[in-house]
Amino acid sequence: MKGGTSGVLTTRDLIRYDRQLLIIGKAGQEKLKRASVAIVGIGGLGSPAAFYLAGAGVGRLILIDPEIPELSNLNRQIIHWEGDFSLPKAQSAAQKLRKFNSDIVIEPKSVKITKENVSEVLSGADVIVDGLDNFETRYLLNEYCLEHEKPFVHAAVRGLVGQATTIVPQKSPCLRCIFPESPKAEEKFPILGGTAGTLGCIEAIEAIKLITGFGRPLIGRLLITDLEDMTFNLIRVKRRPDCSVCGGLHS
Ligand SMILES: [Zn+2]
Repeated sequence: MKGGTSGVLTTRDLIRYDRQLLIIGKAGQEKLKRASVAIVGIGGLGSPAAFYLAGAGVGRLILIDPEIPELSNLNRQIIHWEGDFSLPKAQSAAQKLRKFNSDIVIEPKSVKITKENVSEVLSGADVIVDGLDNFETRYLLNEYCLEHEKPFVHAAVRGLVGQATTIVPQKSPCLRCIFPESPKAEEKFPILGGTAGTLGCIEAIEAIKLITGFGRPLIGRLLITDLEDMTFNLIRVKRRPDCSVCGGLHS
């Protein structure tokens, strides 16, 4: 892993991360400290993902979002508060996270990811976390991650339903293999905040597992949860040999 801070743990680190050191050990914590994670979209998924990655001591967090928070965002985008309606979400989130964990580097970027700037915006990130609400940009991230061989943690939510999977080039199907076509975009989709919260937390845990090597990430598995019924299902997903994105890249 590259891009984060020096991986040497301080006495303060050993106290701060005491409870998770019991799980990931000092070696895991050092990997987190050296790691750099980009969260693309600091909304309903990105807010909890950012909080838990900062809380866990990921050395450098790159927060990417061009939008400005609105009152109707606050039922789920918990990193933005009343009074934040004049500054971009990336900055709003950076302000909170710097107070939350002053030992890590927070890098806000108020830009919309495009084909032209994706490589520059995500340079130095070891893991990319999907906090988006549209498949157009997700497909762009999927292609970038395949090309640069970076893991991509995907989640999406609607109402009380959520899905998550972890894409690791060469090891798993890509996003296009699993979802060849974008679902129909909705101007305003229903969402209960806790649904985004649940999936955002799952994304943070996936990123931590990828960085530390602890546990078993959702590689080749798609989690579908329906919180109305409180069901969690895992579906095995496979690469499509004829995938338009990864089909020719490797066998
Ligand atoms: Zn594919």
